[in-house]
Amino acid sequence: MVSHVKPDGDTLGAGLALGLALKKLGKRVWYFNQDPVPRNLRFLPDAGLVSRQLPADLAPDALFVFCDMSDAARAGEFLPPVARENVLDVDHHLGNALFGKLNYVIETECSTGAVVMRLLRALGVAIDSDVATCVLATVMTDTGGFMHSNTTPEALDLAAELMRYGADKEQITEEIFLRKRVAATKLLGEIVERMRFEHANRYCYSYVDDAMLARTGADGEDTEDTVNVLRGQEGVEVSALFKAIDGEIRVSLRSNGRVNVQAAAKRLGGGGHFRAAGLTYDGTLQEAFAAVEAALVAEGL
Ligand code: AMP
Ligand code: MN
Ligand code: MN
Repeated sequence: MVSHVKPDGDTLGAGLALGLALKKLGKRVWYFNQDPVPRNLRFLPDAGLVSRQLPADLAPDALFVFCDMSDAARAGEFLPPVARENVLDVDHHLGNALFGKLNYVIETECSTGAVVMRLLRALGVAIDSDVATCVLATVMTDTGGFMHSNTTPEALDLAAELMRYGADKEQITEEIFLRKRVAATKLLGEIVERMRFEHANRYCYSYVDDAMLARTGADGEDTEDTVNVLRGQEGVEVSALFKAIDGEIRVSLRSNGRVNVQAAAKRLGGGGHFRAAGLTYDGTLQEAFAAVEAALVAEGL
């Protein structure tokens, strides 16, 4: 099970759910991620088995299931090259490159975990509480706790079904959404201090850099939902958070639904969804500010 760099609850939860189920069918399963599992996702069943190590005795016909990524490069540079023959691409992103021999991509699903649920139903495998918790974590992560526009009746039906299978919704709420480190809250304060508003307040952006992390004792994980706070400011239609951390600039974009931030991100080599997208920018922070604003303007900001 291969998940994308800087993993979120969807890419991890989808792979863990499928892995747990496949183990019940007697398969051997490994979970690959090049980065550590974020603190708030470590409670997920099997999360402790995720690593950047692949077994030495991997069979030549081993199946690599890429979860929640529109192209294989999102797995990062530590995954050895995998032949297309061996790839199953399971995803819900717009514009998935269909890079597998098998591609199971359903753009209308709220999460990749929801796509995995279809596979589990087709396999006829019993859904236990661990699998259900992993899938519910994917749904709750990608709907922003049932707040985003992908919170369809189908997503809510699925969540209800998963709770009946024993998914631990309380734990997901507490671990993923509510609990914050004090350092994270202090960092949020610094980011909020630096908010800038452009385009008659329709665009709000801010940034975080290494010095801010050092000062507050926070790390990159602690920036997770800050971009949504920016988007939530009165009158704001589009927000951006620039994360200049460890010599890299990662940009998170959010939209209220008028401007397509996936299209804007794509102009700069990134991707995502209509209302939530991201990219990595090669250059200075000032250049990144200008390039992202220009891409957003080109998409109608
Ligand atoms: P984030 O802002 O990191 O939560 O990401 C929002 C959405 O954009 C997710 O669907 C990500 O998969 C996607 N995304 C983030 N960064 C990139 C990138 N560098 N390339 C392609 N998609 C990205
Ligand atoms: Mn993801
Ligand atoms: Mn997703």
